[in-house]
Amino acid sequence: FIMQTEGVIVVGNGQVGKTSMITRFAKGIFTNEYKKTIGVDFLEKRTFLKDVGEEVTYLLWDTAGQEEYDAITRAYYKGAGACILAFSTTDRDSFDAIESWYKKVHDECGNLVMVLVQNKVDLLDEAVVEAKEVETLAKKLRLKLYRTCVKDDLNVSEVFNHLGNEFVKN
Ligand code: GDP
Repeated sequence: FIMQTEGVIVVGNGQVGKTSMITRFAKGIFTNEYKKTIGVDFLEKRTFLKDVGEEVTYLLWDTAGQEEYDAITRAYYKGAGACILAFSTTDRDSFDAIESWYKKVHDECGNLVMVLVQNKVDLLDEAVVEAKEVETLAKKLRLKLYRTCVKDDLNVSEVFNHLGNEFVKN
């Protein structure tokens, strides 16, 4: 029995809900260790993946607020086994930026497990992206798409379970 540890980064423009997503999922141990060394927030969460019958410990790096600092974000990417590409239903720029985030992560990490997340689906009335174009982008980048509402805890654990299952399988 091997305890798997998976580094997960959540990437995307500011204000899409990255910090909220991590804290919502983890509600776990907060450690300043990484913050001191490389300037990032870091949370740890242990989960049992019933689909594969294995336990996985997620190390969750929060790049939020430092989206502009290439040197810092590169440091996170190094330890990552999985990546959440996140954008907001109400922020067109955040959707338009997904491909460049994808390229950036891909260039740094190669083929790690990635997933596309449309957050803030509670605000569909104010949506500035159409469902169809989101699906088209997911297909183009060959990513599984999840629509989440971190605020109401909708689909958040599903995203992490998917990443965990894929990670353990590989
Ligand atoms: P980050 O900059 O990407 O880390 O984004 P934050 O986690 O700081 O969230 C930005 C803002 O969006 C905050 O005010 C959050 O409360 C809010 N937010 C996050 N998720 C949701 C959601 O699912 N629905 C709504 N309505 N607001 C959200």
